[in-house]
Amino acid sequence: MKNFCKFCGQEKQLIKAHIIPRHFHLNYENETYAAINAKTGDWKQCKTGTYDKNILCSECDNNILGKFDDEAYRILLNDIYNYTEYKYNQNILYHLTENDFDYTLFRNFFISVLWRASISKTEEFSNVNLGPYEDIALKIMQNKIDNDELFKVLIFKYPKGLENNAIVHLSKVKAKHETYCLSMAGYLILIFINGKNIPLNYIKYYGTFFLNSKNLYILESPDFYKKHCQHIYDLRDSSKKLISYLQKKYDKLGHI
Ligand SMILES: [Zn+2]
Repeated sequence: MKNFCKFCGQEKQLIKAHIIPRHFHLNYENETYAAINAKTGDWKQCKTGTYDKNILCSECDNNILGKFDDEAYRILLNDIYNYTEYKYNQNILYHLTENDFDYTLFRNFFISVLWRASISKTEEFSNVNLGPYEDIALKIMQNKIDNDELFKVLIFKYPKGLENNAIVHLSKVKAKHETYCLSMAGYLILIFINGKNIPLNYIKYYGTFFLNSKNLYILESPDFYKKHCQHIYDLRDSSKKLISYLQKKYDKLGHI
């Protein structure tokens, strides 16, 4: 049987490619993490995270997608802590501006995780299916097209040291709105496939904080830990100090 790499399209020897890069499985060297089966909801303990040996050649995985992964590692696992803009108790707003991060690489990281999960036949990611957006995602990552209205990313974070930070999971949140929720390394990341379908509540409360080429915002609060990501906009009731600060500062911007 011939093996074709799904990224470059060439017939190549394929390698074990991780769907969610291994460093986002916290303490992956020493500890196990919990992976949730999308179909059954069962937890299983894995050592290195799910990989698929039928999707990528080593060149694409290491040299192209690997660069996306590296930028995400750099920011989310290390540098983020240098960019605290506001802090109230355990509520923190991190803010990187355009010189602090590579927008294309960082955005492509989230697109690539969705794309890897979508093309993979592994059961853990069986509910991730981008449909017509699968090919668009590939073209964006290959730099063939440029569409900032698609794959809108909103990043939340839990405080350090919580038990659930070891959970690694990607699932569809709302079929209607084509939204995916990526949990990894203590982050809760919402990816809206099409910017036009973002629910009004999200735009109202978090519109400014969507990833864009000029700004990268991350909102950290213990409250996120208690809520299901579908209801994150309810935070206005519980993190009033943080939200009022944000609203005071960004009320007039209100754009995404
Ligand atoms: Zn390839």
